[in-house]
Amino acid sequence: MAIERTFSMIKPDATKRNLTGAITKMLEDAGLRVVASKRVWMTRRQAEAFYAVHKDRPFFGELVETMTSGPTVVQVLEGENAIAKNREVMGATNPAEAAEGTIRKTFALSIGENSVHGSDGPETAVQEIRFWFSETEIVG
Ligand code: UDP
Repeated sequence: MAIERTFSMIKPDATKRNLTGAITKMLEDAGLRVVASKRVWMTRRQAEAFYAVHKDRPFFGELVETMTSGPTVVQVLEGENAIAKNREVMGATNPAEAAEGTIRKTFALSIGENSVHGSDGPETAVQEIRFWFSETEIVG
């Protein structure tokens, strides 16, 4: 199976509760390697651009508020089948529907404050990695 890269974020609800290490450990335990990582407090402009695909959805305003309410840890993860594996470890968007043992089942507070983001496919992975990182910041 091919080695892939995907983009991950530990969202403000999780960094505020000091869960960066616990969440990263779950990703690493699943076989994913952190090949880039930085802590950012995103601006409204960055949040609106990053989530532009959702701009017409009713939850967009709340999403931007939540994502700018504290620090986020943005990461690039590498591993076999990394995109699907990360989505599996994250769990369903709504923590009430997430499987046992997933990050969202374990830590998420609500559908809006659901602790992590992960790219949903190869194209978005490339776009999202480029949005936050330059090539020299990624060290495999
Ligand atoms: N979201 C929300 N309410 C909804 C659906 C989504 O607040 O009804 C937020 C939530 O934080 C989610 C993000 O918007 O993680 C992006 O939604 P998407 O459907 O892409 O889910 P994900 O890929 O994060 O599981």
